[in-house]
Amino acid sequence: MAALLAVLLSLAFAAPAGAENRTLGLYAGHADGLGAASVETVRSELQRLLTPVGFDLIWRDSAQRKSGEDFDLVVVSSFDGSCSADDLPPSSAAPALNSVILADTSVSGSRVLPFFRVDCGQLIRMLAPSLKPLSVAVRQTTVQRALARLMAHEIYHIVAQTTGHQSSGIAKASFSLRDLMADRFEFDIWSLSQMKPQPAVVISDSEER
Ligand SMILES: [Zn+2]
Repeated sequence: MAALLAVLLSLAFAAPAGAENRTLGLYAGHADGLGAASVETVRSELQRLLTPVGFDLIWRDSAQRKSGEDFDLVVVSSFDGSCSADDLPPSSAAPALNSVILADTSVSGSRVLPFFRVDCGQLIRMLAPSLKPLSVAVRQTTVQRALARLMAHEIYHIVAQTTGHQSSGIAKASFSLRDLMADRFEFDIWSLSQMKPQPAVVISDSEER
């Protein structure tokens, strides 16, 4: 077990930064309450989470889609509700943690499709009681970081082509309030390895022809 983990660790960190990076084009739909500065906070947190996988994230507004752009992988996201934490809903509106779907990705048969949705309204309702005592600026950063974590979770399903989950980190089946709000919350080593390009399968001559 220790030896296997050591191998995975070396796989995860062996690649020199930038050497084999893949581009991930994210076409983001309109998000209510998420201005340009907020998008930048979400984008940089998402990039930070995806850097160990070797992804350069290119965030594009899906309404201003240009032809001729070429990415190694493309994902499309949409946002429901308002992502602004300026005016919080009453704490009594907070849903029970284990009953909320904050984000989901489309699946067709065994294929995970590159479309996902994040429910900003539910996220804010869930975080509202914890956000209340914070300044508006800190609320916004907290919500934007949580949003990036939800997006990273869905991107994990798409890149790893799995509907399965890990026992810890961003690829967990469900997030606690702490996971959403903590200063740091990352992918675990197993999900990072699942998201890396798999080594090419060696096909013998007899099978190839
Ligand atoms: Zn999931």
